[in-house]
Amino acid sequence: SEPRMDGIEVVKKIGHGSYGSIWLVRRSSNKKNLVLKCVELVHCNQQEVEAARQEVLLLSVLKHPNIVSYKGSFELDCRLHLLMAYCEGGDLSTRIKLQHGSLFPEQKIIRWFIQITMALQYLHVHNVLHRDLKSQNIFLTRSGLIKLGDFGIARILNSSVDMATTMIGTPSYMSPELFAGLPYNYKSDIWALGCLLYELATLKHPFPVRDMSSLIYRIYSGKVERISSHYSKDLQYLVRSLMTCNVEHRPNTSWILHQPFIRRHILVFL
Ligand code: ADP
Ligand code: MG
Repeated sequence: SEPRMDGIEVVKKIGHGSYGSIWLVRRSSNKKNLVLKCVELVHCNQQEVEAARQEVLLLSVLKHPNIVSYKGSFELDCRLHLLMAYCEGGDLSTRIKLQHGSLFPEQKIIRWFIQITMALQYLHVHNVLHRDLKSQNIFLTRSGLIKLGDFGIARILNSSVDMATTMIGTPSYMSPELFAGLPYNYKSDIWALGCLLYELATLKHPFPVRDMSSLIYRIYSGKVERISSHYSKDLQYLVRSLMTCNVEHRPNTSWILHQPFIRRHILVFL
């Protein structure tokens, strides 16, 4: 049902997630649009309640130009309410569908990618793993800036939660080490970042999920279709580097942002 609170008008529902609903709301005082993520705690088990509170806690301390900004939170009537900035451009997954198969220009892909990588670098420097990087969780502002969102299953590394046993994230963005039962780590976020870059360049998932065993086989055998040869050799190489099966050989965010071809783009758009 529709959330109700003082000083906030509900405009419309904009999404329904796994644990809650997403609403576009407006602050009565200044008519400013905000997004409200509302989680019904009564429908959650203890672990899910913890996860919802963790998302609020994380978002309230994370401050970065490419991370969705926190605007407040409260618990009322067994519901957890999380207020954040509204990103008028919607999410990247929807943006990709709007292309109807027409490829993005390389410059647009790289500019988005740099902003996502900068947000991820900020998280990793602060020992935070996002663990659910995918196009549905990346939002665009009106002016086309990237805001990383949905910290619903993000974790601070070395927290007491046992990460090794929980299957998390989107199967199609899951890295080889997760299939091997190893704990989620920084490099698993990098794998997901590679899948995301692949999706931006092809408008398709690198590993469309049919059945689990063929998915695992294809990830290990490195059977990924190449991205279009219209894109530069640099971009083709970058996609392959991020999707390196071996965790040791997979780069980190600082390697990515120091690539000469990435630096050239950063210099142009800053
Ligand atoms: P869930 O945990 O249910 O996936 P998300 O935070 O990813 O929740 O939100 C679900 C969807 O709602 C997103 O994919 C996006 O389309 C929309 N959404 C969420 N937050 C925002 C926001 N701040 N601005 C614009 N759209 C948003
Ligand atoms: Mg989401």
